[in-house]
Amino acid sequence: MAIDTGLPDLKSQHPEWEPWLVVIQEILSEAVNPYWDAVIPTRFEAQESKIPLLAGVSLTLEQSSVRRVLEQLIRIAHRSGTPKMATLEPVLHAELDSLSLFRASLCQNADYLVETAATIHADPEALQAVVALLPVPFLQACNRHWAGSIAKSWVEGYCPVCGAWPAFAEVRGVERSRCFRCGRCGGEWQAHCLFCPYCGMTNHEELVSLVPEKSGSNSVIDACRRCLGYVKSFTKLQGSPPVKILLDDLASVQLDVAALEQGYKRPHGAGYALAVTVKDNRTVPSSLA
Ligand SMILES: [Zn+2]
Ligand SMILES: [Zn+2]
Repeated sequence: MAIDTGLPDLKSQHPEWEPWLVVIQEILSEAVNPYWDAVIPTRFEAQESKIPLLAGVSLTLEQSSVRRVLEQLIRIAHRSGTPKMATLEPVLHAELDSLSLFRASLCQNADYLVETAATIHADPEALQAVVALLPVPFLQACNRHWAGSIAKSWVEGYCPVCGAWPAFAEVRGVERSRCFRCGRCGGEWQAHCLFCPYCGMTNHEELVSLVPEKSGSNSVIDACRRCLGYVKSFTKLQGSPPVKILLDDLASVQLDVAALEQGYKRPHGAGYALAVTVKDNRTVPSSLA
C-alpha cells in the first residue's frame, strides 16, 4: 500500500514548487526499489558510542544503477524549466563518475560537488540539491534494516544511522517524548528537551523558543543563542513515516524563513563526517536494478 507522503497536498498548496516537487516525487518512488535493500551490508556488531552506523562501511554498488537514478533525477530537474536546473543538462553527457558523486553526497562532501559543478559549468547549488537526493533510497533502506541496531543510549545531535543533522524534532503523544528526525534516511532518535544538537548546549537561559505568528500552535523554532543554530519542532500525536520527512521539512519552510530573519541558521555539511568506501559491482542481477 502506498504511504501518504502529503505530496498532492503540497502541490496544490504551493503550485510554484511543482518543478522541485516532481524531482522529490521521483526519488521517493525510487526509495521502494528492492535493489537498495539488496545492497545493505549486514551488521552484527553493536553500535559504538558517538559513531553513526554507516561510518566506515564498505559498499558494493552497481555503477549503472546509480547512473540510472542520477540521470532520471537530472532529466526531470532539467525538464522542470527553472533556469538553475537547466544548467544541469551537461551531467547527462559528461563522463562523470556516478559512484564518486554518490559517495560525496552520502558523506555530505560539498566541496567535491562544487568542483564537479565547475568542471561542467553547472549551477553548484542546483547540482548539490539534486545530487543530495541520490543516496536517499539507499539511506532509507539502511534505516529500514538497521533501525533495531541503533544504540538505546544514543544522545548525539546527529543521526545515528547516517550522521546528518536533524531535519526537525517531533514532540509526540500525551507523554510528549521528543525525537529528532533525519531528512535523508528518515531515522529517528531520542532528544533531550533542552539540548542544542549542534553545540550540545543544555543551559535553558541560552536556549530560546520562537513562535512565528503564522506557524500555528503545533510548531516552534528551538534556537540556541550560543551557536545560533535552530531546529524546527512539531507537536504531533505520532511520528511521520520515514519517507515523509523530506516533505515535512519542505512544507514548513516558513519556519526556516522566520528563523533566518532572527539571525539563526542550520549548519551546512554533516554532523559526523562519514568515511565510506563505494566499490563498483557488475555482478548484481540486472533484473533488480
Ligand atoms: Zn540519517
Ligand atoms: Zn548551539
